[in-house]
Amino acid sequence: MNVEKILARLIGFPSVVGMPTDPIVDWIRGYSQTAGVEMSVLPGPEGDRSNMFVTIGPREVRGYILSGHMEVVPASEPEWSADPFVLRRDGDRLYGRGTTDMKGFLACALAALPRLAVMNLQRPIHLAFSYDEEAGCRGVPHLIAALPSLCEKPLGAVIGEPSRMQAVRAHKGKAAVRLEVIGRSGHSSRSDLGLNAVHAMAGVITQAAAYGQSLMEGPFDRNFAPPYSSLQVGVIAGGQAVNIIPDRCTADIEVRAVPGLYPSSLLEPIRAQLFALRDSGFEVAWHELSAYPALAPAEGSELTTLLTELTGQESFVAMSYGTEAGFSAGRHRRDHLWTRRYQPRPSSR
Ligand SMILES: [Zn+2]
Repeated sequence: MNVEKILARLIGFPSVVGMPTDPIVDWIRGYSQTAGVEMSVLPGPEGDRSNMFVTIGPREVRGYILSGHMEVVPASEPEWSADPFVLRRDGDRLYGRGTTDMKGFLACALAALPRLAVMNLQRPIHLAFSYDEEAGCRGVPHLIAALPSLCEKPLGAVIGEPSRMQAVRAHKGKAAVRLEVIGRSGHSSRSDLGLNAVHAMAGVITQAAAYGQSLMEGPFDRNFAPPYSSLQVGVIAGGQAVNIIPDRCTADIEVRAVPGLYPSSLLEPIRAQLFALRDSGFEVAWHELSAYPALAPAEGSELTTLLTELTGQESFVAMSYGTEAGFSAGRHRRDHLWTRRYQPRPSSR
């Protein structure tokens, strides 16, 4: 089956993030079997979705991982002019949800499978397909936890996120949280009897914004744009009517951290501000939405050289968005990454 036909099959599964993965997993497994390769299905704790993994080539040698996520973001935008889950060709372009991010990469890896399966590989190639990446990399940590029982410690991993075929060697880490403040409702004419949750949250948000400004003073990593960690309040919700004291307010905050800083610990000052509201009679809650560590630049690695040769393009140092690569690299550097205080590094380019 050629790569376009495989892509058409993959696009045909509306494998939207947060949904059960059985249909697409079953198809990939069946396809692999026809290539003589048995992909392992590794169910996650949710019970209805799975990661997939296989080693092609010698198991006792260290090799490279080709890694991608099987799910896509929802395709509910009204701008879709045709069924987003039917692959459509228009000239030299292919349309459909996930053609680029990132079923295209999965299709390329799967199209190569029959040839890989009969090659006399000196080093193994591993395929690692994950679920719920778009929901803050929920699936891949389970896959990475299982890796030591599946293969020798890999030499490196290629995460097939869209980057115009230019290898990206580093990205920021990220943590997102929802803050919740619960006060006491009442009629606005008796403000003395209520506890206004919106007012209380406004105080926390003002402090968070000021704290976000202070992150611009460093630590810096000149590989990134911007070269410092950043923070924003993205969503705020609370209140029902102008004459009702709002008893509940939530705010979603994210932080994007340069390598060397653990994203969740950057949120600690905000957490302290939130919990200080309890002294004024409010109830508060801190809900972690997602988090993944940064991927620090790896220079001069064999993988970087290999990718430069294969793509004919110099590798690009850093992106401010995130991928599963932070987890993949973190498996071997986790303690280092999580506990180290920031040390300035010489910028490479
Ligand atoms: Zn992606």
